[in-house]
This record gives sequence, structure tokens and C-alpha cells, in this order.
Amino acid sequence: MASVIEFGQITVAIINSWRRKYEEREDGCYCKVCGSRIQQTTCYVSIHLKAFEPAHVGSGRVIKVNFPYCPECDGEIDHATACFHAGEEVQVMIESGAAEK
Ligand SMILES: [Zn+2]
Repeated sequence: MASVIEFGQITVAIINSWRRKYEEREDGCYCKVCGSRIQQTTCYVSIHLKAFEPAHVGSGRVIKVNFPYCPECDGEIDHATACFHAGEEVQVMIESGAAEK
């Protein structure tokens, strides 16, 4: 059965690290560990505002980020959830291409 991953609080560095686990070839992305073809699912990221830390409150906005996973190493994943404590980094995240248009 496909599972749901809960990351808790994530950062731009964590989002960027997802991609580094995989090797990009002409016909797709492959796991550096086992060589399986990488699947994509969605990570729903709730935006919380840093100004209200440590409470998890904010605009309530949720953005969708592509989440790559290895079906062999990570198992079947339905989707992932995370929260992001936002200041100016939200802009960085969107500009980095991590956020779905
Ligand atoms: Zn793998």
C-alpha cells in the first residue's frame, strides 16, 4: 500500500537535496543507490510564517512541490506533506523551480 510521508518542517536545502539523490539521464531520473527509475509524487507544503514561531500558524497557503522518490528504496509513496516556516525564502523556493506552476 502506498504510504504518506510527513517531513515536518523543511528548508530549501532539504528540497534541493531530494534531487541530488538521483542521477539524471536522457530518458529520466534514476536512483544512485539501486538504479531504479525515479517516480514523482506531490509534496503538499503548508506555509507558516516565521513571525509567529514557534506556533504553526500562517497564511494557510499550501503549495505543491514535486517530490521524487525511489520505489525500491523508499517504497510506494502516495504523497508527502511538510511545512515551511517562511520569510523571504518563499521567494527563493519559487524561483528555484521547486514549486509547481
Ligand atoms: Zn533506489
